[in-house]
Amino acid sequence: MKELTVFYCPYCGYYGYYLIPKRAVCPSCSIHMTKLPLSCQQFMELDYKMRDQLIGSQIFEGAEPHSSVVQRITEQAKRFNSRAVIAGQAETIQKLKQEIEVLKTENKKLSDTVAWMHDTIWKLTRREDSRRGD
Ligand SMILES: [Zn+2]
Repeated sequence: MKELTVFYCPYCGYYGYYLIPKRAVCPSCSIHMTKLPLSCQQFMELDYKMRDQLIGSQIFEGAEPHSSVVQRITEQAKRFNSRAVIAGQAETIQKLKQEIEVLKTENKKLSDTVAWMHDTIWKLTRREDSRRGD
């Protein structure tokens, strides 16, 4: 299966995904669009602001692929994503800590109960013993 390619209009910045490069024509300028030097997948990982930035820089610097710009922007996207992952992890750790606290409290209650039961059984056993001793 052929992959979709991202094309942009060097005049107005319109972009779209196309299977066939011949069909990549800007609907408002009626000119052939230029291929972006990154995969559709990479492009879709960028947010709208980064897409605009990327296309803007492509228009500004000309139609030639500028891998440095693409790299800079995808690096930026990667950093942004890993920040989100780290934030998510911190949140998870925080939740786990809370769960551990709950478990600790429950455990304390349980061991208190066990201690109380032990005491009671001990007392009952002693009572049995003393009664037997009579
Ligand atoms: Zn256009």
